[in-house]
Amino acid sequence: MQHTLRRLHSAELLAIGTELTVGETLDTNSGDLARALVALGVHVTRIANLPDDLDVVVDAMRTALTRADLVITTGGLGPTPDDLTREAVSAVCGEDVAVHPDTLAWLEGIWARRRQPFPSVNVKQAWVIPSATVLPNHNGTAPGWWVDRPDGRVIVTLPGPPREMRPMWTDGVVPLLHTRGVGADLDVRTLRLTGIGESQLAEVLGETILRRSNPIVATYARRDAVDVRISARADGARGAALLADTAEAELLGLVGTYVWARGATTWAEALDEALIARGWTVGMVECGTGGALVGLLGTLASLRRAEVQTERSATEDAALIAEAERVRTVGDASVGLAVTACPAGNDTDVVVAIVTPDGSRVEHRLAFLRGRHGADRAALAGAAVLLDVLREPASGA
Ligand code: ATP
Ligand code: MG
Repeated sequence: MQHTLRRLHSAELLAIGTELTVGETLDTNSGDLARALVALGVHVTRIANLPDDLDVVVDAMRTALTRADLVITTGGLGPTPDDLTREAVSAVCGEDVAVHPDTLAWLEGIWARRRQPFPSVNVKQAWVIPSATVLPNHNGTAPGWWVDRPDGRVIVTLPGPPREMRPMWTDGVVPLLHTRGVGADLDVRTLRLTGIGESQLAEVLGETILRRSNPIVATYARRDAVDVRISARADGARGAALLADTAEAELLGLVGTYVWARGATTWAEALDEALIARGWTVGMVECGTGGALVGLLGTLASLRRAEVQTERSATEDAALIAEAERVRTVGDASVGLAVTACPAGNDTDVVVAIVTPDGSRVEHRLAFLRGRHGADRAALAGAAVLLDVLREPASGA
């Protein structure tokens, strides 16, 4: 079908199903899609949850199409009368539905394989309208639609169950978005920071950087790091990668000392890489943290031993170094890491001791909050100091 080549810059997401609007099911689909769209450079301008009510859905879809380039629905593609998404799209487009022979044959085949009669209610899952392309469902019986509107806007319908929705998005929708130029000319990268809070970071970066529209620089306080995301869009002659490179160099100049990883790297991944680079293994002991360190680093490939102590061991530097040395020895590991956490008012006193073949190091930190939060931050401090030690230039080199 001929259509205006409209750039797909904005999207609205409609999650359809009364179970959502009565609070029985949590709409995880929209968040998943929103993250994926943002990573492709599409602005998600609105997310709505709607009941299985034809008028409500038609109205929402019509209005969304006046605002957004892309309207994506999830849910309501089942065979039952309360699954109304196809009816809604057909009404909005003013096009009649017809049975799509290939899809019907595929559906009938599914029942034939089970040696069961094909239920007539399922025929509607083979419906299509003239401006729709059928998106096959390899994990269920509800195909989706990609619908090209005459003005270049697009409606996409996806099934409700996440295990059907996600593959259809990845295998069916994303390739079609690429053919429409979505995600091209875009460079998105993330720097992961530790040892600096989000507000302090915002101050160091300053308003000029944080308000720039291209590349967009945004900060996110995550559980395990403060992330800085750079998203650059090609601008005339200047490619996205060049713009992102320039912004990244500027950021590294300001906060490079806090950067410990890039992208979606976890502490365990960063530490494993650093340990493997040295050919080292690690043994660790934590005290007063309720297992937070094992929770964070328990999947380390280079881990030889992990101990969780409830008895508060001494927090004297020498005693803690001795603990690190002990766990290193009993674990037959190259590196010993000992972390203790003690409540200090509303915060947590953290001591980290590390013994390596090259020497030892002790660091004291005050972690924000106490209890579980303080323990999690104590574990992060242990990981951060360990990574720092591992990245020091090797002795004798
Ligand atoms: P099916 O033919 O498999 O029923 P469908 O497109 O009709 O597909 P729905 O009937 O709307 O999907 O929802 C089926 C199930 O998918 C729901 O019971 C719920 O578990 C899950 N689901 C639906 N919408 C969402 C959503 N927005 N987020 C997370 N899960 C959802
Ligand atoms: Mg259903």
